[in-house]
Formats: sequence, structure tokens, C-alpha cells
Amino acid sequence: MQIARVALGVPLHRLFDYRVPESECLTAEDIGRRVRVSLGRRPCIGVIVGLPVVAEAGCGELKELDSVLRELPPLPPDWFRLVEFCSAYYQVPLGEVILSALPAGLRRVDPPKPRAARRAAKPRVRNEPPRLTAEQEQVLARIDEDGAGFHAYLLHGVTGSGKTEVYLRLIERTLARGRSVLLLVPEINLTPQLETRVAARFPDAGLVSLHSDLAEAARTRHWKAAFDGSARIVLGTRLAVFTPMPDLGLIVVDEEHDPSFKQQDGMRYSARDVAVFRAHERAIPIVLGSATPSLESWANATDARTPARYMLLTLRARAVASARLPAVQRIDTRREKLQDGLSGALLAAIEKRLGGGEQSLVFLNRRGYAPVLACAQCGWVSRCQRCAANLVLHLADGRLRCHHCGFECRVPKGCPTCGNQDIQPFGRGTQRIEAVLAERFPQARVLRVDRDSAKSRKQWEALLEQIHSGEADILVGTQMLAKGHDFPKLTLVGVLGADAALFAADWRAPERLFAQLMQVAGRAGRADLPGEVLIQTQFPEHPLYDALVRHDYPAFAAAQLKEREQAGFPPYAFQAMLRAEAPQIADALAFLATARAWPQAAEYPDVLLYDPVPMRLARRANMERAQLLVESPSRRALQVFLTQWGDAVAAIKAPSRLRWHLEVDPLEF
Ligand code: ADP
Ligand code: ZN
Ligand code: ZN
Repeated sequence: MQIARVALGVPLHRLFDYRVPESECLTAEDIGRRVRVSLGRRPCIGVIVGLPVVAEAGCGELKELDSVLRELPPLPPDWFRLVEFCSAYYQVPLGEVILSALPAGLRRVDPPKPRAARRAAKPRVRNEPPRLTAEQEQVLARIDEDGAGFHAYLLHGVTGSGKTEVYLRLIERTLARGRSVLLLVPEINLTPQLETRVAARFPDAGLVSLHSDLAEAARTRHWKAAFDGSARIVLGTRLAVFTPMPDLGLIVVDEEHDPSFKQQDGMRYSARDVAVFRAHERAIPIVLGSATPSLESWANATDARTPARYMLLTLRARAVASARLPAVQRIDTRREKLQDGLSGALLAAIEKRLGGGEQSLVFLNRRGYAPVLACAQCGWVSRCQRCAANLVLHLADGRLRCHHCGFECRVPKGCPTCGNQDIQPFGRGTQRIEAVLAERFPQARVLRVDRDSAKSRKQWEALLEQIHSGEADILVGTQMLAKGHDFPKLTLVGVLGADAALFAADWRAPERLFAQLMQVAGRAGRADLPGEVLIQTQFPEHPLYDALVRHDYPAFAAAQLKEREQAGFPPYAFQAMLRAEAPQIADALAFLATARAWPQAAEYPDVLLYDPVPMRLARRANMERAQLLVESPSRRALQVFLTQWGDAVAAIKAPSRLRWHLEVDPLEF
């Protein structure tokens, strides 16, 4: 009797043995093939991970597997090393990693019939590559010098400094050697221009994209093209890091600092970190690019005390000589009475742009009309009944909405408690600023761009088109607008509401703010028109703004790293977070307390377990949430601890409605 050991997508730290039907004869070559099996009564898809001679003890009578699926070649060994690493590092059962790394179409028992692929429009003729700048030449020469093998590069260059052109040249070299390329980007919706640019440069490389916006059939098709080697370039978001690619020769991670490389549910992994592991495992180069690298990467590239793990490469100037960096200025709002949140200086600057036929962008990272609606008479505020959060006023469609759980209701006519008719919005979101600007500049076309106005990719592309064709004079937008777009007529960026992040409880908030502001500042003045950035602030002397005015990321990073080191925060400590949620906070805290009281913890002196505490958003969708931080100065020590502790946590008897998860290298607190 032959036995197949199968990984299934279930949250259990075990594999499942099945009897192989007489009609099938499996060999070691079949490891990595998908199979159809049943788990209990439920049919499901699994992947063969071994062919043991003896079944795991205690499994009783083995069930027979239903069928071996042979339409695809087996998943290769290097792919298994990748998922095994993720399973061990992120403390996620191997079966869950394997199945979640496959496109949905390949893990469904009855996938929908594939429709014929729509022919992708052939990219328009190919654009001539520009002559490299001296800095670009240097960067490429440095990488060429290292040759093949694992090398991790951190490519630091302001927006417009020509990082993408460097990627394109590296892709060209890699393709010429007969190898393929994995290009990871934070959010494909936000970077359609990149896709066009890469496809136009390499029309014969069979570029495919992989992201969660693709229809299931297309995603499966693209994945297969990467797997069988017909697609030589894969451009994808974080999930694409798991695409098996036979001749992989280069990985590029663009905007490597972007938080969306971190998966926030299910298997909580960092696609950037997994990509570095993958490059190392495949012995190929990897390039991490950013104008504002993550402090983790920056430390890896610059820490003088440890041998640099990443090679730092820098592009200092913008690639197009005439495109200067924008002048960044602070507007001190302590000295001025703002007009509906806008300073005189910003209004005047917008007016000037209107006169000159140039575009302005008002950046405010808060969508909706106002963050809360309140009654001055009785103190009522619009709270979400299910979360410890306020309902946001969305005046555009007359709704109150919770941005955490999705709850929504109509805006009440009067105060629900005292009947007062005069309930007032407090604070400002994009909709309100849009309204203010429309009233103030009736002749201008004001366009709001946020997740509400660009819900679908279609809407988003239509908005981009409107901006490009000059049908908008003033843009009001969130960080959606900050990324990867050339708006040639955009010469002014006004920044509102940034101060909140300076003193936020989340100690990563300044890092994110700096990155966002650099990015949004990079939108101004890319062509022949010089750009200007005006930041409204009550803390103009804050060092973060100082560094921003000088476009000095290294200074900002050095200051932040010093603070982190003093406080013992990452990257000078390694962390994991155990989170629990339950209808009663006491249950969540008790679960964490049991986990913390694990008797063997004393055997790991390098690992510190903090007290369980309620989370900042202490209730979401009627679940009370709490967390327990685990920390160590050594990544290795933390890993060894987690491997044992994870099992102990999984064995804790918890109330049935309690949910928990463990996150390694958490980004949010
Ligand atoms: P980044 O990725 O750093 O934002 P890009 O590679 O997109 O920078 O370059 C910014 C702009 O400069 C683009 O319009 C690009 O076509 C142009 N560019 C890049 N490299 C060169 C070069 N060597 N000569 C002329 N233009 C260049
Ligand atoms: Zn009231
Ligand atoms: Zn809610």
C-alpha cells in the first residue's frame, strides 16, 4: 500500500496521510502535485509533500485519496523551501502557507470553467530607453561588478531620480541571460503606469500581472504562465512573491517601505522579507528601491557596527535635469485664523495656480466629510455601536460610516438623544475640503480622489484620465494620489492634518508620515514647471519637517534610528504579537495571561513577555481585543522561543468564541 502525505489548507499544525489508489503509482517526482481528497466529508484540494513508507501513527484507518491532479507539473523543491521557511518563520501551519500561496482557482475542488483568454492589447511599439545619467551608470556598474549570486541592494533615490529606469536596465540584462524577473509593487491599482512602461520596454517578455483585483480565471492563467516559464516578467503585489518561476534571475521590490507589503490577516507575512529570503535561497540578486526606505532596510544598509547586509546605492538628483526637487515650506498655523481649515498662504498659492493653468493638490489623509458628528447641547457623538470608534460623516451620500467594521446608517436629522436640530460635524475630511474649495473657487474644477470616489479600478482610471487631460484644477486627495504618478501640470501640493502623526501612540507613525509626505511632495513639479509644497503645521520646528524641507531622508532616518535604539524598538529588537479577541475583554485577557504564564518561558532569558493589554482600538465589530508583546534582542532567540511557545498557546483551552493569532514582526500596534 502506498501512502501520500498531504498538506491541506486548515489551521492545524499537522499533515494528512492518505492511501494512494491502486491505479496510481507515485514516485518522488510526484511530490508537489495537487490531489483531491476528502477531509471528514468535505472534498478539498491538497498538495503532496511526501511519500512516507509508514503512515503517521494514530491515524487509524487511512482514507484513500480521490485523485491525483496532473494538469500542472509538480511544484518544485525551491518553492517548497520557500513555503517551509514561511511556515517556520511566521508560525503558520505548512498546509495553510502552501494553499494560500496558490491562486484560488487551483485550490478549489470545482473551479469555474476557464473562459478563453481575452487577448491582451499589444503594447504600443517600443519606447526608446533614455541615455543613463552618470548616477544611474554608477549604480548599474556596481551591480554588474557583483555578478550573479545573492546580493541585496537598497536603491535609495528621491521620486523621479530614475530608479525605475535602473530596474528596467537590470530586467533587460536578466532577460538577456535567459532568466526571468519578479517585480513586486505595493498596490497595482496605484501604479498602472509602471505596468505600461515595463510592457512597452519588453513587448516580447510575456509580462503578466498578479494581484487581488484580477478575476480568478485570469489570475490562475497568469500564475500558470509564470510557472511554465512563458511569462518572463511577473509584476505583482505581495501575493506574487510566492509565484513559482523556473528561471528566476532577479527580484525587484519597488517602494520597499510600503506597509502594504505586509499581509494583515491570515498568514501575516512581509512580502519584502520573504522576497529577500527567496533571493538568498535562489542565489540571485534582489533590489529594494525607495525614496524613503523602511528603517529596517536602512539599518541593514548603513549600520556601521555590523557588516552591512544590504549594499546601499544612491541616486541623489532627479533624472531629468530640469526637474528640480520641489521647494518645501512650512506654514505656521498657530499665528493665523484658518479659513475652514485652509491658511491664507495656501489659498493664495492655489489661486496663483488657477491663474496660470497649473494644477494644485490638497493632501489630507482622511476621507469622509468629518471624522465625527456631535451635539453641543447634550454631548452626543456619533459612535459606532460595535467598535470603540466614531462613525465618520459622509455627506456626499448622507451616511454615517464606521471605517473599522463597515457599519453604516443614515445621517440623523437631529440629535438622537435630545432632539437638537443643530448637530455639527467636527474636524475635516476630504469631502469637506472639497466643498470648501468649490465654494471658495467657483470657477475651478475640484476633483476629489480617495477610496470613496475611486472604489473600482475603472473609476480610478477614469479619475486619472481626468487629471491627465487637464479636466481638473484642484485635486483633493488621500495617499492614493501620492504614489507613482506623473501629473505634468501639478505644481503645488498643500498638506493638511499631518501633525497628528508626529505624536501618535504608534511609534512607527513618524516613519510613515515622512514617507507619505516625501511621496506626495514628489508629485509636484516633475516636468519643466518647478514645484512647491506647503505644509500647514502647528509644530513648524519639528525635526521631521526640518528634514523634509531639506529632502534629507538620511538625517531623518539617523534621528529615528537613534530614538529606536534608545527605546529598544525594532530594528534593534525583534518582536512578535499575540492577539486575542472575544465578546468579553476578560476572556481575551485571561487567554493572554495563560500564554504569558507558560512555565518554560523562564528557559528563554533573552525573550521578554510583556503584560497583556487591551488594544488601542479596544473593540471592533463587537469583539473586545487585547494583545501581548513578545520581544528579544535576537531574532534567532525569538524564533526558537516562538517555535515552542506557539504549540503551548495552541493547546490553551479557550472559550469557543475567542479568536487569536500570532504575528511575527508586527507593523501596527
Ligand atoms: P523613479 O522611479 O525614481 O521615480 P523614474 O525612473 O520613473 O524615477 O524616472 C523619472 C522620470 O525621469 C521618468 O519620466 C523617466 O522617463 C525619466 N528618466 C529616467 N532616467 C532618465 C535618463 N537617464 N534620462 C532622461 N530621463 C530619464
Ligand atoms: Zn443632543
Ligand atoms: Zn464599527
